[in-house]
Amino acid sequence: MNKWEENVRKVVPYVPGEQPKDTNVIKLNTNENPYPPAPEVREILDSFDESRMRLYPAPNADVLVDSIAEHYGVDSSQIFVGVGSDDVLSIAFLTLFNSDKPILFPDITYSFYDVWADVYGIPYKTVPLRSDFTINADDYKCENGGVVIANPNAPTGVFADVLVIEDIIRANPDSVVIVDEAYIDFGGETCLPLIDKYENLLVVRTYSKSRSMAGMRIGYAMGSRKLIGYMNDVKFSINSYTMNTVTQLCGAASMKNDSYFRESVNKIIATRERSKKRLAELGFKMTDSMTNFIFASPQKKSAEYVFNELKKRRIFVRYWNKPIICDYLRITVGTDAEMDTLFTALEEILNG
Ligand code: PMP
Repeated sequence: MNKWEENVRKVVPYVPGEQPKDTNVIKLNTNENPYPPAPEVREILDSFDESRMRLYPAPNADVLVDSIAEHYGVDSSQIFVGVGSDDVLSIAFLTLFNSDKPILFPDITYSFYDVWADVYGIPYKTVPLRSDFTINADDYKCENGGVVIANPNAPTGVFADVLVIEDIIRANPDSVVIVDEAYIDFGGETCLPLIDKYENLLVVRTYSKSRSMAGMRIGYAMGSRKLIGYMNDVKFSINSYTMNTVTQLCGAASMKNDSYFRESVNKIIATRERSKKRLAELGFKMTDSMTNFIFASPQKKSAEYVFNELKKRRIFVRYWNKPIICDYLRITVGTDAEMDTLFTALEEILNG
């Protein structure tokens, strides 16, 4: 190693799911939405005047923030927006977790949490889930520098009742509790109403799944005015202009069409429930996912074998060669037609 390298910050980065160059694939590996965004988003793109690109975007993303605030009936000062919820979570970790005590999150959860903790030098401790992948609130009733819970959890799809989440928040008045609700629109119950009761609660959301806009990169967080203020102070100490003008406008447009949103989410829920039945018939063991993916373990062949065989057939799902979850595949819910192609391939792979 060269001398200069000794002073370099070294990290092991998060590995996102594969984005194959070949577009002729069935892509069920990164929990994207198979349906297009609301038609109002198209209208923004069609009418956007490119001369606006000369100007910096609105640093506070007011149009977007106000549309989110109106949608949820909260004050604009309670909303923080970022470039995907990864950006929001990253700023939240950096701002809100500045203690010598370890932050706590489940051993099986979104695998970016430990990466942010590492890059920011935040001590952390992972808390084992129960064997059925549920959370035991009592495990979070100890000294800590913060708590992060994805609800529903990823990659398990398991939803924890709001009473369980509130139990954790109530037990932790001295640290911030982040609830990552990336998948909440697919059937779970949000803990958003609790932000008025607990000043130390941050609820994080994304446009990437239920709003079909992963490529635009929009995430947001809702919490007390104080907590959001601290996050904005850090954000404005790094980069004032994180989100571009087109994205801000598209995000606001999406929020305006609630019936389209509900319709597309309901289609995915219907396909998910049908897919669970079909996977059970194919001998998969699975959790009762409340998300836009299914966490399923093939019983006849190994998960790794099925993953590789599906890939050969140009069907991409997600597999992790890690303890506890190495027997599972995470399958994003696609269109009915995509799922039918998947089931035909699975029949061939499992019975062949
Ligand atoms: N939280 C969870 C639990 C996720 O699964 C994801 C998707 N990888 C994210 C946050 C980040 O999503 P995005 O940055 O696209 O908003």
